[in-house]
Amino acid sequence: KKKIAVMTSGGDSPGMNAVVRAVVRMTIHMGCDAFCVYEGYEGLVQGGDFIKKMGWDDVRGFLSEGGTLIGTARCMAFYERPGRLTAAKNMVLNGIDALIICGGDGSLTGADKFRAEWPSLIDELVANGELTAEQVAPYRHLNIVGLVGSIDNDLSGTDATIGCYSALSRICEMVDYIEATASSHSRAFVIEVMGRHCGWLALLAGVATGADFVFIPERPRDHDWREDMKLVVQRHRNMGKRKTIVIVAEGARDKNGNKITPSEIKDLLADTSEGGLALDTRITTLGHVQRGGTAVAYDRMLATLQGVEAVKAVLEATPETETCFIAINENKIVRKPLMQAVKETKEVAVAVDAKDFEKAMSLRDTEFSD
Ligand code: ADP
Repeated sequence: KKKIAVMTSGGDSPGMNAVVRAVVRMTIHMGCDAFCVYEGYEGLVQGGDFIKKMGWDDVRGFLSEGGTLIGTARCMAFYERPGRLTAAKNMVLNGIDALIICGGDGSLTGADKFRAEWPSLIDELVANGELTAEQVAPYRHLNIVGLVGSIDNDLSGTDATIGCYSALSRICEMVDYIEATASSHSRAFVIEVMGRHCGWLALLAGVATGADFVFIPERPRDHDWREDMKLVVQRHRNMGKRKTIVIVAEGARDKNGNKITPSEIKDLLADTSEGGLALDTRITTLGHVQRGGTAVAYDRMLATLQGVEAVKAVLEATPETETCFIAINENKIVRKPLMQAVKETKEVAVAVDAKDFEKAMSLRDTEFSD
């Protein structure tokens, strides 16, 4: 009887609870034992009460809850081998032979490292007398499957990460609220949204709300972005628009790699000197409201279908199978090699850091155009 554990790790995202529910129930449905590891890798390193066997009823109501009810944490110990050694010991002591991890690229990188090291961790635990050869005999191979939970939609190889559509919906709702007051006072608003190195949330929020101007890391503005923005905003105002909405991704940069900040955009919109726009301008940083709240229907569906697929992948895996993650491509739930996706994601970040924006653009799955 297989013992499958599920864990949420890294930044939380709406839909993680739906993942936990789907994995627990599918595991039980397939006649296996389901476990939850609380507080991400920290729980794996701590062991004890952090690892709990789950029944069908334990995940009741999880679909409509935001955040992650089994907790998540950043765990420094797991970056180092001694931490992973303790984690391996705790897994064997609980009889767990497969782990399904829902997290971002960091969590999934850690997962792959753990699986690659697993045989040597087991050998070391026997060699140093912490476990006996009989104890570890059934656990020669660790089976790991990744699920991508992130509001940023920043993992290469999947069309959507679990949580990104919930965050996008939340942003649109907030922009609608802001628009009502902006329009009343004929004001301009600069709205900063999350996304780390990725502009997906900002770009799609711009499309969905009809924003006047959008700044994203993948399309760095050249030195005359100030003039470009002024012209667009002025044109929209001349057409009778009583509000101005500029959306800026937290990772937005110019072509020299310098961050474009909401306050410099505000200064430009509010500029009262000759030829300036002289708009009454406010800044709103949406912050963590983008992460919180319940998951939209799409994320609940994605999490559920992918959770089910993850359990199937675990049950079908052999020791030779490459570590996979569950993606969605053109509306189909598919298994894909994990490390290739993580590598491609890193390449984009490295290219952006090196100011090689053309390369970063070509590596991104999404096509951006002006
Ligand atoms: P995310 O999964 O959202 O990208 P992090 O990058 O903070 O978030 O990763 C979450 C946790 O995963 C870390 O606190 C650490 O415990 C583990 N982790 C991340 N990267 C690695 C790595 N390279 N090796 C081992 N563990 C890692």
